[in-house]
Amino acid sequence: MITWLYRRWRRRHLKERPFPEEWVEILRRRYQFYKKLDDEQRERFHTHLKVFLWEKHWEGAGGLEVTEEMKVIISAAAARIARNLPLSVYNRLTEIVIYPSHYKHPGEDHKAVMGQAHHFGTLVLSWDAVKKGIAVPDDARDTAIHEFAHVLDAESGGFDGTPLLEKGSDYPVWAEVMGKHFAELQEAPFDACLRPYGAKNEAEFFAVATEAFFETPEQLRRCAPELYDVLAGYFGADPV
Ligand SMILES: [Zn+2]
Repeated sequence: MITWLYRRWRRRHLKERPFPEEWVEILRRRYQFYKKLDDEQRERFHTHLKVFLWEKHWEGAGGLEVTEEMKVIISAAAARIARNLPLSVYNRLTEIVIYPSHYKHPGEDHKAVMGQAHHFGTLVLSWDAVKKGIAVPDDARDTAIHEFAHVLDAESGGFDGTPLLEKGSDYPVWAEVMGKHFAELQEAPFDACLRPYGAKNEAEFFAVATEAFFETPEQLRRCAPELYDVLAGYFGADPV
């Protein structure tokens, strides 16, 4: 109760603080989509970004020192996909840990990881992978977007490919459309319009579809219009 009240009070205060001008410069330099936002969408995006950046705890690992620019770039990915969702979607996430490059789990020496969302509130990202994700803005690959999609997914209680939807009647439609495209991807991973990694399980499917929705919306809408519409409904956005 105290935590909740404190967050509400502090968030109101953060929302009123002006958006720093230096951040606008970083965003203009690094993100093409930023220039295309209209005034209302930019305002929503700014609010999400600043609250996210100021609320989360940031930590460098493996010798990395977290800079303001890194925080802006990563928070921008979170805000980009959630700008039309309530600010509460990232409540469970408290900490962002950034490694310089692909990191390895102790005991799993063959497996390098680019990013990972944990249900207990920590997101681990590789800075190299984040930079690579934004270097090519239209290849449907973006590690930060991918990981934040997992965070949104986990808001509903687990990594099952279904985030918290607005109303109860949204769930059957979601299950039908996502289920159909997931099955298609599993049957023919190299013919489908999403990258094959999405066939791994429902959670990866949602994360991969989210990357495509924001990075290659035209292709996704052409190739899987129902999937595009369901995602547009959830994100409250129409990137095409
Ligand atoms: Zn994933």
